Amino acid sequence: MSKIQRLPIHVANQIAAGEVIERPASVVKELVENALDAGATRITVEVGQGGRDLRVTDDGEGMNEEDARLAFERFATSKLRDAEELWNLATMGFRGEALASIAAIARVECVTRPRGGDRGSKITIHGGAEPIVKPAGCPEGTSIQVADLFFNTPARVKFLRAAATEQGHINDVLAGLALCHPAVDFRLLVNDREVLSTVGAGTLREVAAMLLGDDLALDMTEVEGGSPIGRVHGLVCRPDRVRGDRSQQWFFVNHRWVKHPLLARAVEESFSGHIPPGRYPTFLLFLELDPGMVDINVHPAKKEVRLGQTQRVFSLIKDAVMRAFTRDGLSVYDGAVDDVAYAPSAFPSRPAVFAPAAAMAAYAPPSLFREAAPAYEASQGLPRELNGLRVIAQLHRTYILCEHPDGLFLLDQHNSHERWLYEQLGPVDVVSQELLMPIALTLNVTERAAAEEFQARLAELGFVVEPFGPDTWAVRAIPALLPLREAEATVRELLSRGEAVGVVSRQPDDDPLRRTIACHASVRAGDVLTHEQMEQIIERLKETRHPLTCPHGRPTGIMVSMAELNRRCLRS
Ligand code: ADP
Ligand code: MG
Repeated sequence: MSKIQRLPIHVANQIAAGEVIERPASVVKELVENALDAGATRITVEVGQGGRDLRVTDDGEGMNEEDARLAFERFATSKLRDAEELWNLATMGFRGEALASIAAIARVECVTRPRGGDRGSKITIHGGAEPIVKPAGCPEGTSIQVADLFFNTPARVKFLRAAATEQGHINDVLAGLALCHPAVDFRLLVNDREVLSTVGAGTLREVAAMLLGDDLALDMTEVEGGSPIGRVHGLVCRPDRVRGDRSQQWFFVNHRWVKHPLLARAVEESFSGHIPPGRYPTFLLFLELDPGMVDINVHPAKKEVRLGQTQRVFSLIKDAVMRAFTRDGLSVYDGAVDDVAYAPSAFPSRPAVFAPAAAMAAYAPPSLFREAAPAYEASQGLPRELNGLRVIAQLHRTYILCEHPDGLFLLDQHNSHERWLYEQLGPVDVVSQELLMPIALTLNVTERAAAEEFQARLAELGFVVEPFGPDTWAVRAIPALLPLREAEATVRELLSRGEAVGVVSRQPDDDPLRRTIACHASVRAGDVLTHEQMEQIIERLKETRHPLTCPHGRPTGIMVSMAELNRRCLRS
């Protein structure tokens, strides 16, 4: 007997299932994607036991008896006929593995009736055994019930987390799919309770509001950009609305939800200089690239993609986000990102470039943006907060209170002043002022070494420092913007930042040295300000490129709307 044996089909299916079906959320993903591929407009997902039992019901095209039987065979798919097509797919599925895999590790019951068909069928498969097929009375569409997931693969069960965690993954998967398909009506029921429902025929902003809350979603900035390699569109949060984790970063490449660190970095870089370290933007971005540039077949569950021309994709995203901020007056961008020929109108509309038009038509993105107008009209390109301010008073020597057409605006006097100073301290060649009396500083060994090493960089920043004695250095000039009383502390802080002093920042919006100087040069909390000084701080803030945040990323001010005040005073 030969030592090599072919694996029995049910064993092969179980092995495949290990790759495709990692956890209950993977089952939900596969079944819902199938429903979408079948053209469903309503999809209901019911979940119990943290996903060990679930059912997905759709009103899609359904299957006749023969197809329903075939659907559960491995590598049986209606979506791909030859390898050539793999590069031009408009469907979510194509590997023909999902149903066979699920049926190998659970008890599955599928009832389905083709659209316009006069009879339905019911297919029952337990743990990959022979299917039992019977006629059944049922509505058009398909309903697949998966019970006792992993009942015959105990090792898998050990890797499952608490039901709540698994449920969280399921919610995320469904949220991702709902965001991609605002025109589809999704319902998620957990233990018979509805936890998510989208209206269908909704806009992206509406679906976003359901997932992220009205507060955040209604204020998000609309992104729209194109270059010869593709198109990006969607929503990003404002720079002053960032959060402490990356959990709300949604990227879709050719209508597939994917995780891709490089793409996320492109967005984060557009925020750099406005947000503090450890804070992350929220965004929902859709990238449409020529299918030939995207390899979706690198992960069995298609969660990862491999992209070609990553540098150009990176620039496309960063450029579009920065332009959106500039358009909405949230920051100023001079269009310096490499390699982007920004000509959205010159970019051919999707169907022309991305072939299978019929299948793609269901996704037509422009309909996502019917509500294109921002919530307010920013005049002169300023964020709405900075328009029409009238200084009322200083509050606790910390905040500048202002009347605003929409309510009350409080500026943080330090953060606002610091933002302007930071930008005045241009990346190089800072205006310097010679001191009548040089300041002598006694330095320790480390500070002396730093002073020697970084003398030239300090000069670029407006500080002329020279050796003066064995352990003394003299400060002969300082940046003109820096008050004399801050000179010593600033130089010491710059020297103590040792390594950092040498860093010539390549990102003009994010330079730790200029931040240090700006911080020392600006008014502090506790400083009493005159009316004129307060007005000057506001006028100067309006001149800046990134008026919403200080160079450390803290907000320059906070808006309290009349609506909010009226609500709290119960004045409706
Ligand atoms: P794939 O989606 O990769 O083709 P699956 O195993 O997920 O593989 O599904 C196999 C086939 O079963 C699909 O190609 C499709 O023809 C059919 N099918 C699966 N689910 C549905 C559904 N909900 N409605 C209609 N047809 C379906
Ligand atoms: Mg599938």
